[in-house]
Amino acid sequence: MIVMKFGGTSVEDAQAIRRLVNLVRERLWQQPVIVSSAMAKVTDTLLQATSTAASGNEPATLELLERLESRHIATAPDLLRDCSQTEADISALFAELRPLLSAICALRVATPRLSDRIASFGERLATVLVSAALRESGVNAALIDARECIVTDDHFTCAAPLMDASNQRLSARLIPLLEAKRVPVLGGFIAATAQGQTTTLGRGGSDLTAALVGGALDAERVEIWTDVDGIRSTDPRLYGHTRHIESISFHEAAELAQLGAKVLHPATLIPAMEKNIPVYVLNSRNPLHPGTCVRTECPGHDGVKALAVKHGITLVQASTARSFRPTGLASEMFSFLEADGCLPDIASIGQTSVTVTVDNKEVVARLTKQFEKRVNIKAENSKALISLVAEDIRQIVGLPVQVLLALDGIEVWMSSPGASQRSFSFVISEKDVPEVVRRLHELLLEDNCSLLAANAEQSVAHAAVV
Ligand code: ADP
Ligand code: ASP
Ligand code: MG
Repeated sequence: MIVMKFGGTSVEDAQAIRRLVNLVRERLWQQPVIVSSAMAKVTDTLLQATSTAASGNEPATLELLERLESRHIATAPDLLRDCSQTEADISALFAELRPLLSAICALRVATPRLSDRIASFGERLATVLVSAALRESGVNAALIDARECIVTDDHFTCAAPLMDASNQRLSARLIPLLEAKRVPVLGGFIAATAQGQTTTLGRGGSDLTAALVGGALDAERVEIWTDVDGIRSTDPRLYGHTRHIESISFHEAAELAQLGAKVLHPATLIPAMEKNIPVYVLNSRNPLHPGTCVRTECPGHDGVKALAVKHGITLVQASTARSFRPTGLASEMFSFLEADGCLPDIASIGQTSVTVTVDNKEVVARLTKQFEKRVNIKAENSKALISLVAEDIRQIVGLPVQVLLALDGIEVWMSSPGASQRSFSFVISEKDVPEVVRRLHELLLEDNCSLLAANAEQSVAHAAVV
């Protein structure tokens, strides 16, 4: 069997869902399980409705809700010949959602638990449309509530899957359907605690759902259908001349995702890696493009594989004028951040200070509150983390020097070459991101780049000596 996961833009309207139906029909012989995200922007709107409700603004909340309802209802007749049951199913979900938002308006508070319950409607709504479209095209689709299959801890808004329980439930629920030649359709991103409380796997978490399904059922492969021709040398929204990456190792792709490349959710590759299941990133708008294969081994490439950008970084520096190496400060800061689920990507420890990158403003506020009575806290906002990724970055001769030369005139706030075997990261101001991406892409990632050629020559020379 295979898993086919469709992201928000791949189910954004009737036309996109029709493309999905064609792709699934072409792969019926491979026994697909379908994982669908919410329609594009729906999760954002649901979360916006939640915070609008918490501010007590009922008219604005209802307006957001009405816009969402009419978008889903309007998609049904566009997509289906017989849409009465689907419209009724969509209306029933909105009838369940409306009182939840009204309660938040009345209480003027939205807990993470309630926020997850509300966010779950995006995937629940999209799968109603997707499964109806598949059925009308003759595919024997079975709509499954992912909350019955994926069990997580109770870290609402960013829950971690409990693997044994999830594997058991996924197998028990999906294998009989596959044996009966049915095509299971389940929403990504949403799950539940063992007690049945709705949770979500963090933004972009549908990729992780797909990998969990693939891992539980020993899939032949997991296909991530999105809006780009596979994984590129950098985010195509940031730079116009990105290079196609045909194949990439699990470790490189995981590093890229962890360091900000939104194309995959950072935890996606863990279940796939454990079972050695290849993950393909494919374009639902350009399905003939081969996309990118993520797998254990990939043919040698001597240079930098890709460049990732993580936006919205704050540099937090804790310093003290009094003591050298303030005892316990670094370990306390790291414990605090770890407990808040927000470990820094890079950090630096000096004689009188500890500096960390934090990618969440609320965590910055909590960290400041916790430590400002004891040490000086300085938070620098509007920063970005730039990371170069390669299978073994330390083997690329001359990389740090070339990068520093290329950054002439750019303020580098912190850097960490070789903190990991696979990445070289540094922090710059957000305003410098386009220029830095352009310079580094031209230097390191274009087909004729000089560093790549120099490294290739060195490898050939090394091979000759050996
Ligand atoms: P989906 O809704 O299908 O899950 P996402 O928006 O989560 O799609 O991920 C796809 C987006 O990831 C692309 O549109 C692209 O802007 C972004 N992206 C970031 N880095 C990369 C990269 N290296 N290669 C391809 N896409 C990238
Ligand atoms: N719908 C969720 C989000 O927008 C999950 C996903 O799309 O993967 O974050
Ligand atoms: Mg995504």
